[in-house]
Amino acid sequence: MQFGGRKKKISTIPQSELYGQHLQFYGQPPLENISLSEFETFAAERLKLLKTVENLGVSHVKLTEPYRRKLESQLKALNFPYRPDADDKKSQSGPIEYEKRRKDHISHFILRLAYCQTEDLRRWFIQQEVDLFRFHFTELVPKQQLAFLHKNNLHYDTISSEEKTALKDQLINSSFGVSGIKVMEHEFYKVPFQDALDLVRLRKVYLKQGYAYIPHQDIVTIVLNDFRTRLSKALALTARSLPAVHSDERLQPLLNHLSHAYVGQDYSIQKNVGKISLDQIDSLSGKSFPLCMRQLHQSLRENHHLRHGGRMQYGLFLKGIGLSLEQALQFWKMEFIRGKVDADKFDKAYAYSIRHMFGKEGKRTDYTPYSCMKVILSNPPSQGDHHGCPFRHSDPELLKQKLQVYKVSPSGINQILELVKGMHYQLACQKYFELTHNIEDSSFSLNHPNQYFLESQKLLGGGKDIKREMDAPQRSQENSASKGSTGTQEVAANTSQHLAEMTEDLESFFQEA
Ligand code: SF4
Repeated sequence: MQFGGRKKKISTIPQSELYGQHLQFYGQPPLENISLSEFETFAAERLKLLKTVENLGVSHVKLTEPYRRKLESQLKALNFPYRPDADDKKSQSGPIEYEKRRKDHISHFILRLAYCQTEDLRRWFIQQEVDLFRFHFTELVPKQQLAFLHKNNLHYDTISSEEKTALKDQLINSSFGVSGIKVMEHEFYKVPFQDALDLVRLRKVYLKQGYAYIPHQDIVTIVLNDFRTRLSKALALTARSLPAVHSDERLQPLLNHLSHAYVGQDYSIQKNVGKISLDQIDSLSGKSFPLCMRQLHQSLRENHHLRHGGRMQYGLFLKGIGLSLEQALQFWKMEFIRGKVDADKFDKAYAYSIRHMFGKEGKRTDYTPYSCMKVILSNPPSQGDHHGCPFRHSDPELLKQKLQVYKVSPSGINQILELVKGMHYQLACQKYFELTHNIEDSSFSLNHPNQYFLESQKLLGGGKDIKREMDAPQRSQENSASKGSTGTQEVAANTSQHLAEMTEDLESFFQEA
């Protein structure tokens, strides 16, 4: 993956060596040509993997047995490398393992391109990649860990038995949870003290002549710090090359879509049209709408108006749950004329944009309801707006009050606020789902407000028909991914371009009249 305008020659490691180890530091970008459909498949599957890492990191204690088991099964399901062979040489030679490592490498770099664009995206990406790296590194046996460190120019050597014997008392006294037997059984690494500042600060290691003596179980802290720093710098550098990437018209829409992507259905179809009557909306908003839509509905009812960001987000959501064009026109008109807009003004200024949303005007494109990622990451609400994700965009105190009004228990509110504090907005929303539906474990991974609605209806017994019909079409990204070689480059590029274009196009029609 090279982009035009890059004059500096990259010193390359041969491909066979690049994938010689199960785990990578991702120091060298992939230089081979890949098809657009492979590009898209790899990216979608890594995104799915990172979402699993995020979910597991919140629902389980990291690196416990259940955490490892679940992550391993997802790695297997998505065909990523998941466990180092005890004899690493044996696994190097297998073509299947090679393909997995190649996919791991390439997909990491594709998401770098998509997730280097903003601070929020970078932070999220680094956190998930670091957690994934931690999992892989701690799966290595000590010998493999040492080999990995040396290969990546982290020349931390283990100390000899003689040195251990000589320093035994100091090591026992200065290292946490280390007994005399453990000192002799486990490896200790000798690391320049400036590379171990976190451990020095916590007084967890023995220091001598500018070196920190790190017990085996703590070396992961050093490696992770290094990995995080390298990745953070690499993302900053990648962001600088974005203009070159964006000038590639095949990649730009793909990357934009990826950074706002979620992995799941697209909920744009309208086969469930007419399953919902306008009279039901008030009660559905209390029972089955996610907080973002509940808040929009309430503001609309109270103010008889929503600004364009709110109309976009809520209008497409309503379309996704089954409102027909006629119903949508009636719904918005009824509400707006209760406020400052008369019927004539509504027909002139607002009706066109609603028809446009349903693909009846302009390019006649069928528009897609917004995913959580899109709501969370783009177009943050300003004063007077009611759109956005309350878990991301509301002040915690305000969110707390809102949850109290919606009768969420105090302990539930605390759990939600904790998740919000950790920036796990979708998980906070999922917790809200569990609390308001009185269930222990929602058993789905929330990606989309319309998914929230369907899951709720399924649980409350009202969504059988809607669900069946919405299951059929999958988002175009998944389609082209599963088609594999049958999906041509052109189709992949056109589809994504189409997605990007239609969002832009629609936004422009929804400017405040
Ligand atoms: Fe809406 Fe998604 Fe935020 Fe939940 S997480 S409130 S569904 S945007």
